[in-house]
Amino acid sequence: MSADSASSRPRIAIGGILHETHTFMERATGLANFAGQSLHVGADLITAMRASRSGIGGMIDRAADAGWQLLPTLYAAAMPGGTVTAAAYQELLSELQGRLEASMPVDGLLLALHGAMVAEGELDAEADIVARARALVGEATPIVVLLDMHGNISPRLVELADVLLAYDTNPHIDAYARGLEAADIMARLLRQTVKPTPAYARPALLLPAQSTGTAVAPLAQVHARAAEIEALDEVICIAVMAGFAYADTPFTGPSIIVTSNDNPKLAAACADELSALLYQQRSAAAPRYLSPAEAVRLARSRERGPVILVDSADNIGGGTTGDGAEALAAMLAQNVSEGAIVLADAEAVDICWRAGEAALVTLAVGGKVDQWHGQPVTVTGTVRALSDGEFECEVPDNHFASFYGGTVHMGRCAWLRVDGVNILLTERKTPPLDLAQLRHIGIIPESQRMIVVKSAVAYRAAYMPIAAEAIEMDTAGLCSANLSRFPYRHLQRPIFPLD
Ligand SMILES: [Zn+2]
Repeated sequence: MSADSASSRPRIAIGGILHETHTFMERATGLANFAGQSLHVGADLITAMRASRSGIGGMIDRAADAGWQLLPTLYAAAMPGGTVTAAAYQELLSELQGRLEASMPVDGLLLALHGAMVAEGELDAEADIVARARALVGEATPIVVLLDMHGNISPRLVELADVLLAYDTNPHIDAYARGLEAADIMARLLRQTVKPTPAYARPALLLPAQSTGTAVAPLAQVHARAAEIEALDEVICIAVMAGFAYADTPFTGPSIIVTSNDNPKLAAACADELSALLYQQRSAAAPRYLSPAEAVRLARSRERGPVILVDSADNIGGGTTGDGAEALAAMLAQNVSEGAIVLADAEAVDICWRAGEAALVTLAVGGKVDQWHGQPVTVTGTVRALSDGEFECEVPDNHFASFYGGTVHMGRCAWLRVDGVNILLTERKTPPLDLAQLRHIGIIPESQRMIVVKSAVAYRAAYMPIAAEAIEMDTAGLCSANLSRFPYRHLQRPIFPLD
């Protein structure tokens, strides 16, 4: 390729920092949490993420189609967890800034952010990131930001970006498609065929993670109406944000961002309408639960399995420990035959590995990391199998899997069989996003009477196709749907359902 043709191609910088921050968690998120998950700079960003089904993967693929000169900066993603340390945040930010500065001049900037990231001393990390990028690229250069729909969005972020768009699905199976769309919107901005004018509205409402599925109320109704509005010529895109209730900020909660083509009145009217529609549906957001003992009893009474026992208070995807053992205790107390549960417990894995396959062991499992997730349960059982904890996902558009580049690494694992209950012990907490998680070690999901999943919604893509039904449980955990348990300090009040 000649220098001339290279210089005539649009120069598009690309990068991202993604973290869903649970500010009530005691353990902070550091650089090692990003490095252990997904941390790529420069050309390595393209190599690592191009084949993924992530949002940035979609951006990269469409940029290649468009013949853009992509200028990779930094891409960092960590599993949900506690507040990001100031040191980690500054390190990631300065890497992104430094590489963006070195890429100047650029014709556009594509960013993949989460929307619910909180760093020590920075409650609005995404706005801060975009403000710093804006300071480098200038007012006239378009910045398009793809968000996770669990982001808590401030008016400042809406002002700073040219276009904000977000996943439309939860479970997030359209991250890649939205990445393609983000790049398509960038192409229109480069041609200057549209003038984006956004409007933002926020209902005085909090949604627990359990109520943020997009296929059911209250979000399904909002998405249905948003799709009608998005079909209008004058509307560029609509982000229906569910928010993340466990990040305590002044703008926590759902929000609507409607970006029109130079029609601020229309954008404002549509944002207000969708926000009001969501607020009207608020009673549908109140979750219903059974105690673990009642849930297990109900599951045992069913003719057909597997019944999915949803331990959404210990929602790993929301940043919890993944070691809550209340459901395990309930299954053992009722002599369940063929029940399955995954517990993150490195200490227990180590005991099983030392004992070896076929050994009989007595040990305490779960409930060890903090005081939010119940007590350890002492069990005696047989080590049925040991594994390195690596598996390929069976669900193709698996957003969490894209964090790992296709292969999921759970650390060392052990299958411990206690009476009729199959416990998969993992070194690393891993959300229940794929049946291969159980299958890789020999536990057959389809043969279980009941399976405990530590997830609010993300389990559905993998588990509902084989499930007889799902039952929500009320257990201890940092992602409890009972939001009154959390000591909010920054949240704007009054807000439903707290006040
Ligand atoms: Zn999300």
